[in-house]
Amino acid sequence: MSRVLLATRNQKKLVELRRILEAEGVTGVEVVGLADVPEFPEAPETGATFEENALAKAADAAKATGLPAIADDSGIAVDALNGMPGVLSARWSGKHGDDQANLDLLLGQIKDVPDERRGAAFVAAAALVHPDGAETVVRGEWRGKVIREERGTNGFGYDPIFVPEGETRTSAELSPEEKDADSHRGRALRLLLPELRKLAG
Ligand code: IMP
Repeated sequence: MSRVLLATRNQKKLVELRRILEAEGVTGVEVVGLADVPEFPEAPETGATFEENALAKAADAAKATGLPAIADDSGIAVDALNGMPGVLSARWSGKHGDDQANLDLLLGQIKDVPDERRGAAFVAAAALVHPDGAETVVRGEWRGKVIREERGTNGFGYDPIFVPEGETRTSAELSPEEKDADSHRGRALRLLLPELRKLAG
């Protein structure tokens, strides 16, 4: 069994990757998280793109642990804001991780944008870096639109104001399984499957 490190402390992300591997029949890989390896200094995310941030995080983790490492970086890109908040999604209001403040600020900024121009995409980059430095980076996108009021209590971040294409519900009204099947992160992680299959041997 080979081990791969998913460079996160988020239990939900670990469970999601394990579920994807299981669903795809990749049985030879054990996914561990940052809580399962000795601590190492984590650099702040300063990249200009999701890909840069994911690669930097995965490279640091692979170097520090000697394990193949996966990292992701994600956010929402709003058309009417020329792709912002983008890589700044988690700290858009100035307070890192304050989901409610971030969402409220975004809604205020696009208050006067008409319904037909409220397109947006959730974007995730996922990188896999081997201890020898070999790297793969992929990107998943989930298009939809930003509505005017929050609906739903599942998920996190901007989920209560995002209605994916082909849906009438927000992504906070989808079940976790429905969200994984379509989401930007699910898509990006599935694009890493060929590399993960190689690890499984
Ligand atoms: P990260 O943890 O640096 O990748 O930051 C991701 C940020 O983007 C989160 O704090 C959310 O604000 C936003 N985001 C990313 N993915 C999602 C999602 O699936 N739903 C809602 N918000 C998301």
